[in-house]
Amino acid sequence: MKKQKSNPEDAARLRQKAEEQLKLRKSETNKTVSETDKLQLIHELQVHQIELELQNEELVTAKEKAEQAKENYSDLYDFAPSGYLSLTKEGDILNLNYAAARMLGKERSKLINSRFLVFLSNNTRPVFNQFLDKTFNSKEKQSCEVIIETKDNSQPEGHSLPIYAIIDGILNQNGKLCHLTVVDISKRKQAETELIVSKNKLIEAQRIAHMGNWELNVETNELLWSDEIYRIFDCEPQEFKSTYEAFLAFIHPDDREMVNAAYLQSLETKAGYQIEHRILTKHNQVKYVREKCSTIFNEEGKPLSSFGIVIDITEQKQIEQELIIAKEKAEESDRLKSAFLANMSHEIRTPMNGIIGFAELLKEPDLKSENRQKYLEIIEKSGARMLNIINDIVDISKIEAGLMKLDIQETNINEQIEYVYTFFKPEAEAKRINLTLKKPLSAKGAIIKTDREKLYAVLTNLVKNAIKYTPEGSIELGCSQKTEDGSGMLAFYVKDTGIGISKDRQEAIFERFIQADIADKMAYQGAGLGLAISKAYVEMLGGELWVESEEGKGSTFYFTLPYNTESATESTDQHPEPSGKEEDVRKLNILIVEDDELSELFLGEIVKDYSKETLKARTG
Ligand code: ADP
Repeated sequence: MKKQKSNPEDAARLRQKAEEQLKLRKSETNKTVSETDKLQLIHELQVHQIELELQNEELVTAKEKAEQAKENYSDLYDFAPSGYLSLTKEGDILNLNYAAARMLGKERSKLINSRFLVFLSNNTRPVFNQFLDKTFNSKEKQSCEVIIETKDNSQPEGHSLPIYAIIDGILNQNGKLCHLTVVDISKRKQAETELIVSKNKLIEAQRIAHMGNWELNVETNELLWSDEIYRIFDCEPQEFKSTYEAFLAFIHPDDREMVNAAYLQSLETKAGYQIEHRILTKHNQVKYVREKCSTIFNEEGKPLSSFGIVIDITEQKQIEQELIIAKEKAEESDRLKSAFLANMSHEIRTPMNGIIGFAELLKEPDLKSENRQKYLEIIEKSGARMLNIINDIVDISKIEAGLMKLDIQETNINEQIEYVYTFFKPEAEAKRINLTLKKPLSAKGAIIKTDREKLYAVLTNLVKNAIKYTPEGSIELGCSQKTEDGSGMLAFYVKDTGIGISKDRQEAIFERFIQADIADKMAYQGAGLGLAISKAYVEMLGGELWVESEEGKGSTFYFTLPYNTESATESTDQHPEPSGKEEDVRKLNILIVEDDELSELFLGEIVKDYSKETLKARTG
């Protein structure tokens, strides 16, 4: 029979049973105890004796094992890498291991009976206290993160250590106490801080580069965007459904199909793609973005995740477009400059040829007086034409340099228009053109404050052009007060039945050096500056100048001026009117300061009849 393993209680029970039986037998023996029974009893007692000895041996071994285990456990406790502490309910340290002592920065023996809380930083002490209370109230394990601070006056070299604490409250015969496990998490905290720093750096870098990144889980269709993509798409994270379809909805409708096709194709070809397209933000703003994307696939070739970046290139696109416009403008102005120079050389050379050619003919000794007269007139006209061109160039240069000044004074509009009408009437008649005048302004209402010379120059230019570009028909010149729109403006117009201006040139003719049709420039004289100067003058005076025209039917040039009837005279460039009688003038001594010999000669001739004496100097 297999011997059952017995424990100390069983052995004690057996011994007691054997002794009781022995007593019983003895009492019975007194009556009738046989010799055989006695022997039987002795044998049983011997068996019990052996069993007891064996059990005793087992007990000794078990005790030795328990002591060894205790020793092992004690080592484990003492030298465990995590800190273990036993605290009273008040937080006083009953026991602790070396790791805990290290964290608290003192010798283990010196820490017994110290209050654990004093080692915590001021701001984390209440946290721990709270958890300690919770532990005893809820009888459940609690955990928290606190900071051990050993740096103080007594320990200037001490440390500040973030720890993770697990508190387990127990109730034993000594009252309430708790076991505390503390783990040094300084490395984890440092890694967390570094992670936050590098995440912030990444966010900042993306913000500077206007570049965001995204990740699409192809299986779940979950799309993750970085902060910068939300900024580019002008959308808040809570407004975005985080799906591929939600992203497609942001794409400009005209580009959506192309973007979708590019992505689907990249899944088929397993190659990444790069694409530029427009997006439409929440506020309907069109932006340009460049996208790069690639996808990872599993071994069966199934797409798992797509990754990509989005770069906001709106500013770059705008600059590109501005550059294209600027380039086109530069090319256009280069073309215009060449055309202008060609035209200018023609414009200057023609009157110059007239002057030099006819001056040569004047030398002819037998020249008839009527021819002489004709030649002189041609020379005069050619000179005037050249002076016109030079004046235009000077005026436009002054306007561009901002040097053109206004001379605002009371001006009789009716008089100005009438003067221009009278001046051009003969020229129009010579071309058999009917020039008419409409001036419905009352005599009193015709006086306004404006720059008379500039108004005259504008009217002259428009009527001169009308005559120039009207082979036959009529020209009407007029002015009316615009009251219907309450703008308080005067509206002038010059209407002709001439060649008209094609729609595509109607804006360009107001640019410097542009003629309506450059190819046809030889047909009409002109530098293409008149309208640019007129427009600048009208705008300086506070009005607008524009044209309505139909090719082959005629043009009407309109311009407005503020109907300014205040009577005070104001001038930004005033010239005092010369005064004096003719006889006073004759008594004058005149000084001519001129470095050009011909001009000096010419001036001398002019003033000869008016001066008593003429003095000449070459420099100031
Ligand atoms: P230009 O000295 O060439 O006349 P302008 O600046 O006065 O210069 O005019 C610019 C161009 O506008 C002219 O070359 C002509 O082609 C066109 N233009 C101006 N006025 C008229 C008009 N009344 N009818 C048709 N074309 C006109």
